[in-house]
Amino acid sequence: MLTLTFLGVGSAFAKRNHNSNVLIELWKNSPAVDNQPDETMLIDFGCAGPMALHELKERAGFRYLSRDGKINYRNIQRILVTHQHADHIGGLEELALTNVFVLGDLDAGDVFKPQIISSMNILVNLWDTSLKGGLSPLPGRYAMLQDYFNIHALRPTPTGYRPYILADRYEFDIFATDHVRIERKYDWPSYGVEIRDLRGGESVFYSGDTRFDFEAYEERMERSKIIFHDAQLHEITSPVHALLSELRTMPRDIKKRAVLYHYGDDWDHPQFAFVADEFAGFAKPHHRYVLFE
Ligand SMILES: [Zn+2]
Ligand SMILES: [Zn+2]
Repeated sequence: MLTLTFLGVGSAFAKRNHNSNVLIELWKNSPAVDNQPDETMLIDFGCAGPMALHELKERAGFRYLSRDGKINYRNIQRILVTHQHADHIGGLEELALTNVFVLGDLDAGDVFKPQIISSMNILVNLWDTSLKGGLSPLPGRYAMLQDYFNIHALRPTPTGYRPYILADRYEFDIFATDHVRIERKYDWPSYGVEIRDLRGGESVFYSGDTRFDFEAYEERMERSKIIFHDAQLHEITSPVHALLSELRTMPRDIKKRAVLYHYGDDWDHPQFAFVADEFAGFAKPHHRYVLFE
């Protein structure tokens, strides 16, 4: 069984909810039977990620994330990075430093390195322009990304990237999203993820951060049993997220499967009450969604 739990469901600037990062868990049987999952993966880990995990580890069913009252980062085995905004990568410095200096022993060579998964262009820039400042200084030397993580750069193919395969069964297929345009569409790398169960053939759509682009995602959404879609509640003239008004133009059967996330702090204002009827509702933080049985 594969499950997905939102550490947070908020927009980059939300304060009532944490950043839109998710914990993927793979279970031999199910969370009701197993003490802890066999495999774990975060999709993104932003500034609010550590606080979100700190809260989540106290909840029933998530106690395996706790060690002496602190976050047991050793149980986060891999992180898939969709793009470089701080609400998606801002927690990685804490995760890396905790693995080395709190849970590990650098001198003894006992350091747990989770896998870090993304395209090559994200991984290179992630280090050079985001993480290097805080993570390069180590006592006596300068560190590199591979001192903290096992690097898994997804192989480019003529049409996209070769999917990451978890436990020979689940495929994580990243696709380019139209998030921030510097000069033109797709010129600043950012990704969504289609997760597929190779055994049952089912798939789930996770938009990542993106402008509304129904044509680009239609085929993937069409075949997905659950659609997690980024949503911006209020209109602005140059959006970098999908506006709620745009999402409402999607076909009815797509909307009924669409769980909206990455939303602002006023989601519970009565003006958004229609979302519960028109869509599959707003994503619930700390709720374990079953992706595949
Ligand atoms: Zn974001
Ligand atoms: Zn973003």
